[in-house]
Amino acid sequence: MRTFSAILLLLSSLPAAAQLSQNTPELIRVNPHVYCATGYALGNVIFVLTDRSIVVVDTTEGQAPAQAAFHDFRKISALPVSYIVYTHFHGDHVNGAKVFAGPDTKVIAQKNHIEEMRKYRLMMGYNRKLNQVQWAASVPREERGATLGVDLLHPPESGYIPPQVAFDEEYKFTEGGVRFELYHTQGETVDHLMVWLPDFETLLPGDLFYWSFPMLASPGKPDRPVLEWAASLDRMRQLHPAYLVGSHSRPLAGREAIDQALGNYARAIRYVHDQTVKRINDGEPLYQIRQEVRLPPDLASQPYLQPAYGTVEWAVNGVFRQYTGWYDFDPAHLNGGGPAPLERALAEAAGGTDAILQACAQGGSRRPTATGAGTRGSGRQQCRRASPARGTAGAPRRAEHQRRGAQHLSRSRRGRAALGVTGVMAPHGLSSAIVMVVRQSS
Ligand SMILES: [Zn+2]
Repeated sequence: MRTFSAILLLLSSLPAAAQLSQNTPELIRVNPHVYCATGYALGNVIFVLTDRSIVVVDTTEGQAPAQAAFHDFRKISALPVSYIVYTHFHGDHVNGAKVFAGPDTKVIAQKNHIEEMRKYRLMMGYNRKLNQVQWAASVPREERGATLGVDLLHPPESGYIPPQVAFDEEYKFTEGGVRFELYHTQGETVDHLMVWLPDFETLLPGDLFYWSFPMLASPGKPDRPVLEWAASLDRMRQLHPAYLVGSHSRPLAGREAIDQALGNYARAIRYVHDQTVKRINDGEPLYQIRQEVRLPPDLASQPYLQPAYGTVEWAVNGVFRQYTGWYDFDPAHLNGGGPAPLERALAEAAGGTDAILQACAQGGSRRPTATGAGTRGSGRQQCRRASPARGTAGAPRRAEHQRRGAQHLSRSRRGRAALGVTGVMAPHGLSSAIVMVVRQSS
């Protein structure tokens, strides 16, 4: 059920907005010239109404949700779309463009967009897998958190259109009596831009502000320009916007409240960055920095800095990686081998694979903990002896399993059971924390 709302969300009603995206489609009238279609997909569409055309900023991740948003906006205006602006190259901003484009529509992006899109396509196989994991494509929709408006297991045809205009630092134009100012503002990506509408005191910050601690480092994605993100927020504050209409979450109104939110966002970013750098220089290992860096209470309590999407821990990982290499001063990791030797040692320390499987099957206090992503939705977790160990030939094969350890089981030809063993290495040997991960694989 779609709803239309002429009521702006003010900061006084923060709890209702405390999420990256909402599930109910809603076309919000921010002011007489700016509308925000939110809840149709992960990404918003922002419509700017001029005297003779519509300018569309961001297009969602798919043509179907873009069509739904456009259908609703068509009840407000039938004017043609003169420009489509991509705030950056991410799929949830560019893949619905064809829905809005007419014969004379121009698409605008920052010039790094082209190279970023080339790199994304170069890694398409990897990115497809990563997106399915990040957005929990195989988990039932009602069990996901924020989700995309397209099915990643059966991705629809993209509605992306390459930009015809690609600018460097700024691009200004007037359309239908409305001034548009586009500025290169890095943060989420290196091709990120913001749109400033001085006539309406309205700022479109793209993905540089949304209702979550910012995703300063995404686990499977390239480094993000962290300090540049904070600098971009400083730049936004200098404009003193009265309306802030992001490409995720709901719009905000109120000059003072917006200034405070942008300021806090920048302060949180710099705090995590500076704390991480200081601790790296003090010689702290990454795991310790990750455990110890926490936002100060006045920032941690802000609803738009909760770990709904990005997290402080991931930001620490990202900052650490940006400034250091892959060597962590542990010689064992300089030219590390595969996981098999450690897994074998852990299995042997736990009494061998048979003992582990037996304990698992028996349950009770000795039952290992089944855990790990990938078990959900793919069958119940259970422990099962690999079938090659059954029957008359079982004994010698079982002995072989014991010799070769858990890794062998995970490669069992019949694939009846996949067994992985992970453990925590204490500084001076194996800790008692041995965690079994048993997954039914067929
Ligand atoms: Zn986005």
